[in-house]
Amino acid sequence: MDLSIRPMMLGSVKLPETHPRAADGNCVIHGFVVTHPDGAIVVDTGVAGDHDVLNEIYHPTATPLVEALNTADVDERDVVAIVNTHLHFDHCGQNRMLPSVPVYVQAAELEAVRLPKFTIPEWAEIADDRRRVIDGDAEIAPGVSVMATPGHTPGHQSVVVSNGDQVEIIVGQCCYTCGEFADGRILPADMHEPSLLDEGLASLDRLRRLDPTSAYFSPYTTVFTA
Ligand SMILES: [Zn+2]
Repeated sequence: MDLSIRPMMLGSVKLPETHPRAADGNCVIHGFVVTHPDGAIVVDTGVAGDHDVLNEIYHPTATPLVEALNTADVDERDVVAIVNTHLHFDHCGQNRMLPSVPVYVQAAELEAVRLPKFTIPEWAEIADDRRRVIDGDAEIAPGVSVMATPGHTPGHQSVVVSNGDQVEIIVGQCCYTCGEFADGRILPADMHEPSLLDEGLASLDRLRRLDPTSAYFSPYTTVFTA
């Protein structure tokens, strides 16, 4: 089966001084598209356009999702599913650009969206008829599964693509970098709250045990290759 993961550049944000990763400065926002014989699967949709509060703090730029898909050589009409690794504003901002496509999200994440300052609620809102709620791990297409990897957010999930003997993963923000993945390391400040650190480490351990041939991170661009 011809499955491949293609990164998409969906925009950027400038991390404010108060952000734990402020030293990283300008941060490219990536999403991904998994090509699949049954139709393409988009993983994370970046930021949408202008938003008053966001403009002041993060100075976002946005690349339209359709344009990013076309650059990745995918026709937007071939997309059959969106997976949101989580519902922070920089992962779900353009869900609405493909309004008829089902969106897979963890039940715990839908609960977290109600918390104050968790995200931009109108970007994270998913209409009932397109919401596909998952509680844990699940296969969403032959060879493509989501794995619950809580820590960065209470309902974070990662995507596992199995292609013959090869396993590739889209980590999302379970950890941020190749080095952290290689070392099984997570920064407490990257967790939704400090009490989730153990859960975050357990999530990362589950991903590492898959022994993937490559792992993709969002928002960071580098690809871990075994
Ligand atoms: Zn996040």
